[in-house]
Order: sequence, then structure tokens, then C-alpha cells
Amino acid sequence: MSNRPEVVRPSTADLYDAHVLKNYGRPALTLVRGRGALVWDDTGRQFLDFTSGIAVSALGHCHPHWVAAVQRQAGELIHVSNLFRNPNQGELARRLVGYAGPGRVFFCNSGAEANEGLLKLARLHGMKRAGGEEGKIYKVICAKSAFHGRTFGGMSATPQEKIQKGFRPLVPGFAFGELNNVASFEALIDGTTAAIFVETIQGEGGVNPATPEFLLGLRELCNRHDLLLMIDEVQCGVGRTGKFFAYEHAGVRPDAIGMAKGLGGGFPIGAIWIGEKATDLFQPGMHGTTFGGTPLACAAALAVLDVIEKERLMEKVVLNSAPWLTALAQLAMDFPAQVLAVRGRGYMVGLQLASDPTAYVAALREAGLLVPSAGGNVIRLLPPLTVTPAELAQSVEIIRSVLAAKA
Ligand SMILES: *Cc1c(COP(=O)(O)O)cnc(C)c1O
Repeated sequence: MSNRPEVVRPSTADLYDAHVLKNYGRPALTLVRGRGALVWDDTGRQFLDFTSGIAVSALGHCHPHWVAAVQRQAGELIHVSNLFRNPNQGELARRLVGYAGPGRVFFCNSGAEANEGLLKLARLHGMKRAGGEEGKIYKVICAKSAFHGRTFGGMSATPQEKIQKGFRPLVPGFAFGELNNVASFEALIDGTTAAIFVETIQGEGGVNPATPEFLLGLRELCNRHDLLLMIDEVQCGVGRTGKFFAYEHAGVRPDAIGMAKGLGGGFPIGAIWIGEKATDLFQPGMHGTTFGGTPLACAAALAVLDVIEKERLMEKVVLNSAPWLTALAQLAMDFPAQVLAVRGRGYMVGLQLASDPTAYVAALREAGLLVPSAGGNVIRLLPPLTVTPAELAQSVEIIRSVLAAKA
């Protein structure tokens, strides 16, 4: 008989409780496996995943083309730094320029980091306009209820008390207008203003779409005052609304774009595209990041673009979201005391509830549907672009059952 003591393995939840920083609150599930729009937890329970890692897993979980491309690249070359070229980065830049228009691309690793690049670009544009003098033209006008990330620049562009509290003083030089109110932005423009920076559809702020008239109005303001129009497509971009960039629906042309979440299909990658008006502002040595645009990250993003194109996913978003949005709007009519509004476009939809969404998120999870909440009592629905019509219909039935149970 061995008298070795019995080894008690701590559970994943125990390990989190003991060792992971408590900045996220306590997750309700441990997820261990995924396929398409489905995920499974450590007890074998299956869920319909309309969180998609917060709009990241654009192809769903473990799409075979994506997995094969990442596995192949991992066996060939993973990281070399930007001291050297790698073929995937050049090809990915070419493909993104194809979507965004003439210009250039810089690669980074997250949405906040993409936005930092845009904010630095605004400063360079201001310096150029000021004849090379620093600190004269630097102000960036953003929207109230925006979300641009958790870095100092991102937080400073995000006028939410829950984001900023505890971290002041923030970066100076930000002002905030009302979403969809061009006059409120115009009123903030003065001789120090360098850029306007908005999301096409606010994500964390509650799925609040910018109207085409608003975006076109901002474009006109930027032209008139020589400001950069910078658009944060970190959440709404990469096909989620049925166009590659959500601003395309408005027919507007930005000067610079930030993207990240869906771009890598789960592999961390961010990017900024800068149009021809501003491509020369960044000169060698002014900006960089060690991990930006590695062969592996770019292989993952190229696989996402391949699948979006080959499987015509943007067309499917347009086609399949129409009946889904109609069914969700019907829910709002059937449960008017609970659902105040349905907003969004394609596969980026928010249900604005009459009360705090926390209990609904938990009830939906118990009923088999994973969704994130957002500001303003909103439940977000962010299915992968590969979701099937049957899965979309199933999501409506699950939401209906939860609303009925709470009515
Ligand atoms: C998520 C998000 C960010 C921040 O991206 P991270 O990758 O979390 O840094 C910025 N802007 C928008 C619109 C986002 O949705």
C-alpha cells in the first residue's frame, strides 16, 4: 500500500479565486470547448454562444479553415518582430487597404492599442497644422457614452465615470458631443481641435448606432476645419453589420480607422488604417509595438478574411439578420414592459430592457444562451458571422421563454 497523500487538485474556479486578479468580477462558467456558435462548460453543458468572446470569434469557435491556417503557420514561423518583414503582414495590409481604400496599415494587438495609435495620429496632424509646433492643436472630440478602451488615451476618450474613476488625472485634450447631434460637435470645435473620433455603432455604451446623417455631417465638419475623421470600428467592424466596416452603410469616408476584435477570429490582433491624407504623419521611429503583425497573428486574420469572402458571410449577415431582427422586434412588442427598444444592425444588436440586465443575462445563461450586457440596461446579441438561421431562431425562442417567465 502506498501511503502517498491523496492529491487534491483545486478546481479552475478555486484557482481563479486564489490567484487571478479580481478586476472582472466572478465568472459564472468555465468554458472548455467550442464549435461554431456552440460552447461547452466543464460539466458538459452546451450553450448557444452569442457573446462570441465580445464580438471576437467572428467565424465561431474553431472554424476548420482558421484552425488549419493557424496550425500550419505555428509550425513554420510565429514571431520575428518588425525589425524584419514577414509575408503575411504585407498581404494582410493589402487586403485591408482593399476594404478601407487607398492608404496604409499599422498592426498592433488590441482595440485599445489601435485607438492609442489613432490618438497619436491626431496629435501629429495637429502638429503639422500648427507648422510643426507641439501642444497647440491637439483636441479630439468624441461622443458621450463612447467606449474606446482602458489605456490612458482610451479612458480619456471614454467619458464614463465607471471607466475613469480612480485613474485621474487623465490625458488632457478631449471634449464630448452628443451622439447623432452634429451641432453639439460643431460647438466644441476651436483653434485647438485636431480630430473627431467616434464609433459607428457604440458597443459598450449600449448598442447606439450613429446615423448616416451624423457621420456625413462630421465628415463635412472635418473637411471644413481640417480635422481628421477617425472611426473606431473595433467592435462593429469586420463584417458584423453586413459590410466590412459599419460606416460603409452611411457612405462616409474616414481618414483613419481602428479595428481589432473580430479581425483575428480569436487571435489577438489590432490594426489601424490611415488614409492618404495622413499616411505620411508617422515617420520611422515614432510608433511601434513588439508583437504587432506577427506571422501567426496575420495568418489568423487572413484566415478570417478568407472565410468571410469564400463563405460570403457578409451577404449571409444581411440575409439572415433580417428575419431575426423582425422576430426580436416582435419580442419588444409582445413584452413592452420589459423590452423598451431593439437597436443595431446585422449581428450587432441590443435589447434595451426596462431594468438592470444582470438577472436576464443569468436567466438566459440558465436557459442555454450566452450574451453580454452593455450600458443603459442593454443586452447585447453578438452571434458569430457563421451562425445558422436555426440558431438565430433558437436564440429568439430562448429570449422569449425568459421574458415570459419574468413577465
Ligand atoms: C472593445 C473595444 C475597445 C477596446 O478593445 P480592447 O481590445 O479591449 O483593448 C475599443 N473600442 C471599442 C469600440 C470596443 O468595442
